[in-house]
Amino acid sequence: MRFMQPWNGDLVDPFGRTVRDLRISVTDRCNFRCTYCMPEEGMQWLPREDILTFEEIERLARVCVERFGVDGLRLTGGEPTVRAHLPVLVEKLSHLRVNPQADSPYAGRKPDLSVTTNGATLRLLADELRQAGLDRVNISLDTLDPDRFLQMTRRRELHRVLDGIAAAQEAGFDQVKLNAVVERGVNDDEILALADFGRDHGVQVRFIEFMPLDAAGHWSSTSVVSQDEIVAAIAAVHPLELVPARGSAPADRWRYLDGRGEVGVIPTVTKPFCGDCDRVRITAEGQFRTCLFATREFDLRALLRGGASDDELAAEIARAVGTKWAGHAIGQVAFVRPNRSMSQIGG
Ligand code: SAM
Repeated sequence: MRFMQPWNGDLVDPFGRTVRDLRISVTDRCNFRCTYCMPEEGMQWLPREDILTFEEIERLARVCVERFGVDGLRLTGGEPTVRAHLPVLVEKLSHLRVNPQADSPYAGRKPDLSVTTNGATLRLLADELRQAGLDRVNISLDTLDPDRFLQMTRRRELHRVLDGIAAAQEAGFDQVKLNAVVERGVNDDEILALADFGRDHGVQVRFIEFMPLDAAGHWSSTSVVSQDEIVAAIAAVHPLELVPARGSAPADRWRYLDGRGEVGVIPTVTKPFCGDCDRVRITAEGQFRTCLFATREFDLRALLRGGASDDELAAEIARAVGTKWAGHAIGQVAFVRPNRSMSQIGG
């Protein structure tokens, strides 16, 4: 049995928030070109050798889980399923446990292991990912109209995504969730249809406010459809009640009063939830970020490849968390867009 790393204590940032959730981008590449995320042409992909290996990812995740009690690992990208042999990474991560000696309610726990994907290849991969130890999948679906799907993703793949959702459900994942970015004048007329899709298929739809992380830089506050508008559009047809105590989860949730599940909204722009944020991120090339909108990064790959010990990696992670800011400043004069788009960070 492998030696368990020492317990270093919870990772607490200067504003008293404890880090529990690590989002790991496994690639900056994607098989879609969603207009709110990537340009059609001209993305500069990272050279293969710049991307962390599975062993490097596992090592960083191990430090975070065993030493600091990180309790959730989410694989993202780019599109994580275009990274070859993704189930091999999932299997490696599925063996991690929070240090049983931890002075923490999470001691000994297996972190929740999830993937955010566009779903297009899940028919091929869902079973293998489940068997490798993946607990949950979130699938992006912004429209149910094939032509609009082509416009929004620049790919004619709606049928494959819908089949991927079915495949994920058949594979037995705990709770399949759908992510739908809403953009004014693009797909805001489909809020109800997407909510109904969730109700009919037993999946929780989570609407996401459009964020200023599109590579093209077209975002403007007028293109954001607010949480209030989204909830009003659904509640006008399906009465809702708020589910209290969101905790550190990004989505506010509402329950359908007729008992047919829940719907969520991630209100990053109009109702930021930074005060409850427990997330940190590692980009595909090993840059540690304390916020989606961070403008500062910490180069863990340089440490990994420079022969740093686990103690040194842990110290750098703790140092980075020590710089986490109170919150992003979207909508304020002080806001500076990060120089990476969502796909280059890992949403
Ligand atoms: N390719 C995967 C997918 O499609 O889910 C994972 C990566 S994607 C960057 C992660 C999530 O970020 C998706 O749900 C996507 O819709 C969302 N996203 C991308 N750009 C966004 C933006 N500008 N505003 C809000 N959400 C965005």
